[in-house]
Amino acid sequence: MAKVLIIGGGIVGLSSAYYLQKAGHAVTVLDRGDMTDSCSYGNAGMIVPSHFIPLATPGMVSQGIKWMFNSKSPFYVRPSLNPQLVSWGLKFLQKANAGHVERSAIPLTELSLLSKKLYSDLSKEPGFDFDLVEKGILMFYKTEKAGEEEAHMAEKARELGLDMAVLTPAECVKLQPNLELDVLGAVHYRCDAHLSPNKLMTALIKHLKGKGVNLVTNKEVTKIDTAGGKVTRVLSHNEEFTADQYIVAGGSWSPAIGKLLGVKILLMPGKGYSFNVKEEVASMQIPALLAEARVAITPMNGGLRYGGTMELDKINSRINMNRVKGIVESVPKYFPGLKPAVPAEKDIWFGFRPSSADGLPYIGRNKNFNNLVIATGHGMMGLSLAAATGLLVQEVISGTKTSIGIADFAPDRG
Ligand SMILES: Cc1cc2nc3c(=O)[nH]c(=O)nc-3n(C[C@H](O)[C@H](O)[C@H](O)COP(=O)(O)OP(=O)(O)OC[C@H]3O[C@@H](n4cnc5c(N)ncnc54)[C@H](O)[C@@H]3O)c2cc1C
Repeated sequence: MAKVLIIGGGIVGLSSAYYLQKAGHAVTVLDRGDMTDSCSYGNAGMIVPSHFIPLATPGMVSQGIKWMFNSKSPFYVRPSLNPQLVSWGLKFLQKANAGHVERSAIPLTELSLLSKKLYSDLSKEPGFDFDLVEKGILMFYKTEKAGEEEAHMAEKARELGLDMAVLTPAECVKLQPNLELDVLGAVHYRCDAHLSPNKLMTALIKHLKGKGVNLVTNKEVTKIDTAGGKVTRVLSHNEEFTADQYIVAGGSWSPAIGKLLGVKILLMPGKGYSFNVKEEVASMQIPALLAEARVAITPMNGGLRYGGTMELDKINSRINMNRVKGIVESVPKYFPGLKPAVPAEKDIWFGFRPSSADGLPYIGRNKNFNNLVIATGHGMMGLSLAAATGLLVQEVISGTKTSIGIADFAPDRG
């Protein structure tokens, strides 16, 4: 069995630790923070096999340009000559075509369905109460144009064998009679689920500690030494950590960690916001996605969590209140009875989605260092795909056959 060191204690790092420990490896996780507030906490908690379309689509390019000029829009790229953004943008444009979308659907669906099954299994283990609810997700739309796009997507979902149904407003009301609606319809992705990410992270940390996994907090990896095609040690300032196998699971910081190794990991941080409202949740039992507004609403911890926006920029701690207002103002347009107030800045959470340009995660061995595995780039689906990623990382490290093919996720793909 191997001694494994994981850089990054978000959901991807901790899921990897979970399956590695279970397979008998000796695991250490290093994190620059205290593992209580990464992107893996404040997200919308959705488990989404329905998301088999990568961010890079032909429609997203034209829509993204229009959104750039609206300060309340859900998507924004800060124009800059930052080389990372330029390379990312070029790759995004190269991949925003129907062929790539088509080719990505099957591997993404396989990864998602495996992950959902693993979360379902995990929720039955003692100590893992993270409020997993398998009632699906409703994708609501208000306009004919979005309705057509969603119907097309629903047809693709059907071809992929996903459990879903296109609903009229009356059928939506039957599902949630107390939710006042102003929509043209919805697609009920019954294949989806939701959970409380905060509870999941807390349960994983408790479990891993109990199993003797070494969780080392407040240690930023600042240097990585290599020799003879291998990683030889990792340093946090003057402190040294060694292992047989190393995993980079640093979320949006992975490119900076890659730089310490001379390895290029092409991704951009996609900042998003969320806030919780302790309101009556009887009206909403099934999470909602608002198609045109790109807002997510999830019943969670006795209230509702609202989330949205994707700002591609350098990592920074600015809160753009206009975009938060954009989220708030979109809600009553779909649900006239739900009128969340604009939250105070202190109550707004933000996180950085580690977004690859082609919309597929990076999972697998690096070609330059034979004891290095990369596990990042999951973008909008990091929670959803983390369990399967953790299992695949374990299988790669153990040298066993992977549960699904991982060629499409190769970190060194073009
Ligand atoms: C508003 C919003 C809503 C979202 N909703 C959903 C959803 O509904 N479903 C879904 O599937 N996904 C969702 N996501 C995306 C999801 O949250 C992320 O993809 C996921 O959390 C990424 O996990 P990660 O482990 O890769 O990264 P992170 O959670 O960011 O963890 C990376 C860790 O690496 C550590 N680290 C970084 N650099 C170093 C270093 N040098 N040394 C040591 N440690 C380091 C960091 O401290 C951090 O703890 C959402 C995201 C946002 C912002």
